[in-house]
Amino acid sequence: MADWDRRSTQQLTKQREAAVRSQVLHAVAPFSPYWRARLKALGRTPASVAGVAALSKLPAVGERDICPDGDPAGAGALVLQAGESGFALHAQGPVLRKAMVDRLVRPGSYRAVVEADTRPTSYVFAGLGLRYPVASTRSDLDLVARTGARLWQLLGLTRGDVVVSGLAPLRTASVQALELGALGAGSPLLAPGDDVDEVAGALRLVPATVLALPSATAATTLDDLDEAGAPLAGLKTLLLVGAPYDDERAGVRDALTRIGVPDSCVILAVHVPDGHRLMWAECRESAGRTGLHTYPDLELVQMVDAETGEDAPAGDRREVVVTQLGFRGTALLRWRTGDVADAVAEDACPACARTVPRVVGLHAGALVPLLALKGGTRAVDLRGVTGALSGRPDVVDWRVVIGPGKRDRTDQVIVHVVPPDGVDSAEVAVAVARDVRAAAGLLPTQVVVAGPGELPDQGAALSRRVLSR
Ligand SMILES: [Zn+2]
Repeated sequence: MADWDRRSTQQLTKQREAAVRSQVLHAVAPFSPYWRARLKALGRTPASVAGVAALSKLPAVGERDICPDGDPAGAGALVLQAGESGFALHAQGPVLRKAMVDRLVRPGSYRAVVEADTRPTSYVFAGLGLRYPVASTRSDLDLVARTGARLWQLLGLTRGDVVVSGLAPLRTASVQALELGALGAGSPLLAPGDDVDEVAGALRLVPATVLALPSATAATTLDDLDEAGAPLAGLKTLLLVGAPYDDERAGVRDALTRIGVPDSCVILAVHVPDGHRLMWAECRESAGRTGLHTYPDLELVQMVDAETGEDAPAGDRREVVVTQLGFRGTALLRWRTGDVADAVAEDACPACARTVPRVVGLHAGALVPLLALKGGTRAVDLRGVTGALSGRPDVVDWRVVIGPGKRDRTDQVIVHVVPPDGVDSAEVAVAVARDVRAAAGLLPTQVVVAGPGELPDQGAALSRRVLSR
């Protein structure tokens, strides 16, 4: 078969069907407490959803579905719980054969193989509205490290590149993917944390060709590093971690010019969607124009209606959902990432010709914005708000408007609803406020009952019926 990034549509389709089938039947359905219960509740058998088309009909789930009361302990139900007997039933042929031989001659080695595939050994933290742990087995970490070699190919890096990471020293999937990626690719990586003096010190120690910075603060950090006297002229690649917005990317380009880094330094975005462990990247050939490249044999990247989490036709901007293929530990099916994007392009990349799906126009975490509410600043999960409004019999149409209020500078979440004829306005307002609170953990600033044609239409559309002022 062709290389992972050059496969034909036919090869990819076949491979993806087999991988989805294997992941559903041999990993998630038997060993995930959450999915076992959910499939049962939906009246579905594992076999009936073990294909791309059937899986796509399942409503997507996200952190609020797994942890409905905001308690991150719920995320434990996503972790696959397989023991030795489960392993023997569901492990892939070659792994199982090797393990069985080991079992005869080296019992300790058999246990190591089983545990590498079943036992979570390492955690990172994820979460947009809440903070929950994501578990990895030893074999998951191998997968992340091996994908690192591909990540380096995409970014046009070699083992000769030297990376300095200015990411905060937190256990996040981005930190892990970058470190294991460097390991898998054979590049030295120095990660001193996000303190400017420490990063400047690291840059003085090693001849860095690659600097990785969080996209939101990269421009400021570059100026600070220059002021701290850090040598930056040798940089050939700047990695913006976390899918930058256009203005952030432009700001970084300006900063590089200002501090005298040659124009030949390429700015590339990398991004690990929330809950996931693989780092998507822009290819070097595109220099940021063709979207984030994904790994078709290790994940299924789809899009859903951002307001309902359900399958939706292309057109509007939609939410990115991820199904992991081949992962154990915290195994995700149809996982809502909170990212919105314009499209998942399936044609070959016009810049590098790789035949991998590309996520185009991604806005990271857009569905869980940080709002400065009267009670304090917090991440508001708009999916909970819209989920409480969609499909209600007592609401014909609705809008959610977020943003600063007219009189003060604090943000508001205002819900506008149109009830059907003959329904009491006050009752609808109370019921809506109550349900939004239950689903999103937040009482709307105000519920406005409107007539048909009176719904607001001003502001930037975050999704079809959510406006940002
Ligand atoms: Zn490309």
